[in-house]
Amino acid sequence: MTPSKQELEDALDFDLFEGDFGTPGDTELSNKIVISRGEYKCHVCHGLVLKGEIHRSATWKFDGELMSYRCCNECCTAMVASVSGEYEENDPIEARYALGHERRGWAA
Ligand SMILES: [Zn+2]
Repeated sequence: MTPSKQELEDALDFDLFEGDFGTPGDTELSNKIVISRGEYKCHVCHGLVLKGEIHRSATWKFDGELMSYRCCNECCTAMVASVSGEYEENDPIEARYALGHERRGWAA
C-alpha cells in the first residue's frame, strides 16, 4: 500500500544535500509533502513522479537562483526508513541514489 501523506512527513527530515555544499546565502524556502499536480523527475532516483503521487517538494535558493527538487513516493519511503534507522543492513536511500546514478548513466 502507498504510504499516506502523514506517514511521509518524516522524510522531510532527511537532508537532501548532506550539508556538503552551499554558500551562506543559500536557504531552504520550502520543504513539504505534496500531491503532484504534474509530472516531475525525482531528484534522488531520476524516476518519474506521476500526477497525483504523494511526494516531497523542496525549494532552495542557491547562489540567488531558485531550485526546485522533487522526490518520488518510493524515495520518500526510503528517506523515512533512513531517518528513523528502521532498516536491516543497508540504508535504503543509498539504493535509491544508486538507481538515480544508473538512470543518469553515471558510473557507480
Ligand atoms: Zn525517486
